Formats: sequence, structure tokens, C-alpha cells
Amino acid sequence: MCIALQMREIGERDMASPVTDMVGRHLKVQAALRKERQMPETKEALHIACASFMPGCTFTASAATEEELMKKVAAHAARDHKIAEISPELAAKVKAAITRR
Ligand SMILES: [Zn+2]
Repeated sequence: MCIALQMREIGERDMASPVTDMVGRHLKVQAALRKERQMPETKEALHIACASFMPGCTFTASAATEEELMKKVAAHAARDHKIAEISPELAAKVKAAITRR
């Protein structure tokens, strides 16, 4: 018996059905939700004017902490006023002159 196997290969069925995506929803995904964490809050809230204890000096400094501010003052005092070491008395004056905001 000869069984003729005709393998009809239906090739490419041209689907005439238009697959138009009629979903009229345009989802505009705007990447507006960017988390910008680039602000580490370095608000320098403490200010000092050297003129407060060194009349005539125009040096001013600002820092976030009193400790940091004192370092700046000490560095400035050593460089511009030849004050190698901030004496407790001067430190008291400096601290008294610190303004906050
Ligand atoms: Zn100064």
C-alpha cells in the first residue's frame, strides 16, 4: 500500500486581520522622578568675621560646625596674623563672635 503523504505546507498565512493597536492610551512615562541626592546638606550655618576680634581684618569664614569653623579661623590666624596657637582667651572671643543662621 502506498500511502501518499502529501505534506502541504501552508506557508505564510497572510493574516489579513489588522492588528492595529487601537488602545488610545499614550502613556507618557516621563522620567521626572529623578531622585537627586546630590545635596549632602552642607549648609554652612556658622559664620565668623575675623574683624570681630581682629579689627581691620576682612577675613570671614563659614562652616557647618563650630569645630570646623575654629579650624578655619586657626588656619587663618596662623597664616595672616602669625598666631601659631589660638589661646583660650582668643578662642572665647572667636566663639563669641560666631553668628548662626
Ligand atoms: Zn583675620
